Parts: sequence; C-alpha cells; structure tokens
Amino acid sequence: MKTVWNEYDEKRREEMEAFAKDYRFFLNRTKTEREFVKEAVRLAEASGFVNMDSVSGALKAGDKLYAINRGKNIVLYVIGEQPLTDGLSILGAHIDSPRLDLKQRPLYEKEGFAMLDTHYYGGIKKYQWVARPMALHGVVVKKDGTVIDVVIGEDEEDPVLGVSDILIHLAAKQMQKKASEAVEGEKLDLIAGSIPGKEEKEPVKTFLMNYLNKTYGMEEDDFLSAELEVVPADHARNFGIDSSMIMGYGHDDRICAYTSLRAILEMEKPARTSCCILVDKEEIGSVGATGMQSRWFENTVISLLDHFGMADLVHLNQTLTNSCMLSSDVSAGLDPNFPEMFEAKNAAYLGKGIVFNKYTGARGKSGSNDANPEYFAKIRRVMDENHIVFQTAELGKVDEGGGGTIAYILAELNMDVIDAGIAVLNMHSPSEIASKADLYEGYRAYKVFLEKM
Ligand code: MN
Ligand code: MN
Repeated sequence: MKTVWNEYDEKRREEMEAFAKDYRFFLNRTKTEREFVKEAVRLAEASGFVNMDSVSGALKAGDKLYAINRGKNIVLYVIGEQPLTDGLSILGAHIDSPRLDLKQRPLYEKEGFAMLDTHYYGGIKKYQWVARPMALHGVVVKKDGTVIDVVIGEDEEDPVLGVSDILIHLAAKQMQKKASEAVEGEKLDLIAGSIPGKEEKEPVKTFLMNYLNKTYGMEEDDFLSAELEVVPADHARNFGIDSSMIMGYGHDDRICAYTSLRAILEMEKPARTSCCILVDKEEIGSVGATGMQSRWFENTVISLLDHFGMADLVHLNQTLTNSCMLSSDVSAGLDPNFPEMFEAKNAAYLGKGIVFNKYTGARGKSGSNDANPEYFAKIRRVMDENHIVFQTAELGKVDEGGGGTIAYILAELNMDVIDAGIAVLNMHSPSEIASKADLYEGYRAYKVFLEKM
C-alpha cells in the first residue's frame, strides 16, 4: 500500500510535523472568512507582498502583490518571467465554512433565558451542532459606519454559548424522528444568558442587551447590520493516539486555502505568474460580491495587465485562456465506519496524498467541471516527475449524493481547471479530521504546480 507515510524519511516527517503545528494554530486564529483574510495579509506582508492599490507603474518578475475584496476575499500574485498573456498558474480555495449565523433580529427572552436565534449556513447535520461549546465571531456595523469586532468563546477565560438538546430521559418522541428532523432549524437557538435585571418586561433580555451595550457600545438595532457567526469553540487538536491526524473545525476548506497560501508565499521568481485566489460563500453557491461568481477576480487580472499597458479584452482573453488552475477543496475520505458509501477503487483515502477529482457533481456529474484529460495528463507527469504522492477519487458512490466546488466558475473563463484537495472525515461537522501527511503533501503539490506547470 503506497502511502505518504511510507515515502517520507525522518527529515521530511519533521518538516511535516512543523507545518502541521503551524496549521493547527492558524486554524484556531481563523474561524471566519474575515479572520482568514486578516491573517493571510499579515503573513503575506511578512513575506514581502504589497497591496496592489499602492503599486503604480511597470511590474517585473518577482514582484509580489495582493488585493482584498470587502475583507472577505484575497488574491495574491507573484509576477513570473514569462509575459502575463502566457497565462497564470492559479491555486483557488474557499475560506468560508458551515456554521450557524445569527438572524437579523436574533435576541429574545424565553422561560428565564436570553436566547439568540440563528439561521444555519451551508449544509449541516443539525443534530451535530447541539449540546456543545460554541463561540461567537464577527462584526457589528453601526449606522455611522463604525465596525465593532466581536470574538467571544476563544480565550480560556471567555464564556462559551450553545444550543441545548432535550435530555435522553424525555427524548422518546425525538428519538423516533428521522435524523433530519430530530433537531429542527428553528430549534437551533443559542442560550446566551440567564441573569434578570430589575425591569418588569423581559428582564433577562434587557440585562444581556445592557451588557452588550456596555461592552461593545451596540444597540439592539445594530444586530440588523451585523455578521455574527456561531462556530465551534474547540481548538484544533492532534488526533489519533499516534497523532497522525488533526481534528478541528473548518478544514473545509481552510486546509486547502492554508496550503495554497503557504505555497505562493514561498514563490520567488516563477516562470509563469503565480496566483492564489481565496474566496467566500462557496458553501451557499459561490454567490454574492465576495463569492467566486463575482467579477472581482477578473478585475484584478485587468489591473495587473494595466501595469504592462495591456488592459484590453484581447489581452485579458489571452491571459485567461492560457491559464490553468487547481480548484482546491476537501475530498470525502473513505470512512472506516461507513465504507459501503464509497466505491473502493475510486475513493479518497487518508494518508495517500493529494486527491485529484476529474469531476464532482451529483446525479450524473451535474454541476461539475469535468476536467480535460489532456490537462490531467500534464498534471500527472509533473506530479510524478517531482515525486508527489497523489490519488484520484470521486465523492462517494454514484447514486449516493455528491457536491460542487468553485471549479466550473473559473472554467467558464475558458481555462483548464481540475478539482484537487485533501481528504477529510466528518466533512461539514463541527470536528473534521484530516491527515498530517496529506496536509504536507498537498502543500508540496501546490508548490510544484506553481513552479512547474
Ligand atoms: Mn463544504
Ligand atoms: Mn469545500
């Protein structure tokens, strides 16, 4: 059985461990798309990247640039030796993850508790998100434009929040229900407080609102223009007695985003221009100004071309058509408790390296980017020549389900795209599992892609 573990010598295992530790701490600091972008900017600037908006005039090979969109997308470029019109080598991934979002009018009082109403974001098994410690991350934007940052539940001394679940002793009816109905979306309300103030009406809610006002300077109406995300409060941990894996929230898709980011941060003077695009909103269809469907990415390519006096459609089309991309997203790792959901010879296995998915989709590849074999043949050659351990897979058995990624959106710009990524267990649960070996091999594969394609 060829695994990454068998291929690594002592020195590489040490590199892998160091990388895995960096990643674990990164995960703990970046539970939302905004936090990821902030941290990415910090790392990029430390590696010599500058904001594109501050650059004027001609660019030269080796120049490192980044741009931000509304605090929730980042794109990074390292200018190559070849002209831009020869195409970009692009790594793409998403930095949003399934979670519970506070509703616009979330706060109410019930049975002596202050409650926060939520609307879940992305595909989740709702029963996995109750009776566990949750943290509140995000921003509240006041009418005057002031942005208040909120993080509750990460520091050891911070309180956490959570959704309650009925005790097993009284759960006879609940246990008869289908898993999809055992916990309903409208029952995913957080318990947020229980101290009553002196008021006649809604004393607990009023007490909590007064606390929020004192601590954050916010009024109840400010919830209307807030983006508050409820995420697992747990920290990423080494997983397995042998510590071969990492369990944490939001491997999907920060494991691909972090490895892609690290790969481009280390590029010096590539032949082709390197690009890394990290986007929001993948879990709800890549929609909106900060999703992959936004024109923002193309606009940054036009801005780049402008530095070479080529900001016109002909040069833009040439650049995009000659580009190639790894659309990176997590793969469904074969689950030892549910092997029957996978087709063994086309399944992804933890520890067997980066996964290439020629296609994803559901019900007959619907919604998929089906990569061209000419393109994948070249990738196979480059990966083999550089001793990268890779596997190919589909997402489960043909009729069992499926899923989509951002691949088809970039392919619409007429470039070669293939899905690539790292296999995880427990995908979209509060505690996903990935192998350290795949994490490091994914990073190595992304570097080879930027250097050699
Ligand atoms: Mn996902
Ligand atoms: Mn994903």
